[in-house]
Amino acid sequence: ATEIRLASRPHGFPTAENFEIVDTAIPSPGEGQLLVRNLVMSVDPAMRGRMRDVKSYAPPFVVGEAMTGGAVGEVVESTVEDFAPGDHVLHQYGWRTHAVVDAKHAVKVDASAAPLSTYLGVLGMPGLTAYAGLLESAEFRAGDTVFVSGAAGAVGSLVGQLAKLKGAKRVIGSAGSAEKVRYLVEELGFDAAFNYKDGPVVEQLRAAAPEGIDVYFDNVGGEHLEAAIDVINLHGRIAVCGMISQYNATEPAPAPRNLAQIIAKRFTMRGLLVLDHFGLRERFVAEVAPLVAAGEVRYSETFVDGIRNAPDAFLGLLSGANTGKMLVRIAD
Ligand code: NDP
Repeated sequence: ATEIRLASRPHGFPTAENFEIVDTAIPSPGEGQLLVRNLVMSVDPAMRGRMRDVKSYAPPFVVGEAMTGGAVGEVVESTVEDFAPGDHVLHQYGWRTHAVVDAKHAVKVDASAAPLSTYLGVLGMPGLTAYAGLLESAEFRAGDTVFVSGAAGAVGSLVGQLAKLKGAKRVIGSAGSAEKVRYLVEELGFDAAFNYKDGPVVEQLRAAAPEGIDVYFDNVGGEHLEAAIDVINLHGRIAVCGMISQYNATEPAPAPRNLAQIIAKRFTMRGLLVLDHFGLRERFVAEVAPLVAAGEVRYSETFVDGIRNAPDAFLGLLSGANTGKMLVRIAD
């Protein structure tokens, strides 16, 4: 077996030295536990937060211990009745080839209903984040003009497509390459998209949204958030899902310098944490899984092969190497 441990806490952008790849014996499950052979694991921006030694909604990773995160695998050994060898399960012990999982924290997933990887992406946590964030946090309504940053990523790509399907007047996305911009417009049906590296975000956003925006779904923070505040309409709504442009910052970022506009424009800004929205999970899957199966919602996945390359997958995620969900294929 192989696992990836946190070797040290990063200062600024993480590097390969922050991770340690360790070969270990295959663990044995105790009472109430399963031994799972992991097939695919997720790397998520939130893991950067857990590499810091600060109190947050998820506990920090421990230096010298294997990291954790979403994974799907095959049960190899089970000590409980409800699970049998061959079952596929979703659980939180990624970053390793073999996981011992408490059966009560394992969720069975159906490989015949959808590809196993989608339970970590479009039909999993990022998908629910997009769904709950757009519908609940941003209080989306038909006729809204929606702007989403990080638009070619796992969360953002679904936000834009759901907004279109639910009657948005106009959907605008930003992403970090010309190829991603093309993907948003030509393959996902965004009305407009721009590469935030091409020039000031506020100028590009204004050009893409001549009548302003009603909703901003923020995955990025910083310059993007300031631009959205400049362009947002009266009574607009900002759902703050992530601020990835600041995750590697070594100094506190300035607040949006134009926040005073919140008074005249009476817009709302609301933080979003997917953990609060698990109650929506069934409704989300019932609605979105058929759209995915019918091809009405499209998704991309970027795979990195092999557990030993999981740190590279994570570093790649932070620098935009992915289109859609970034995943590590651990075994077939
Ligand atoms: P993505 O699939 O969107 O991958 C991250 C992307 O961020 C990269 O592909 C890159 O794309 C972009 N990026 C990296 N650095 C910057 C930067 N400096 N400025 C702008 N874009 C940057 O990840 P997810 O879909 O998993 O997550 C998207 C966001 O949602 C993150 O902020 C994450 O923390 C947040 N999130 C929040 C949750 C919650 O409960 N609040 C739950 C899940 C995710 P590009 O090439 O376009 O730069």
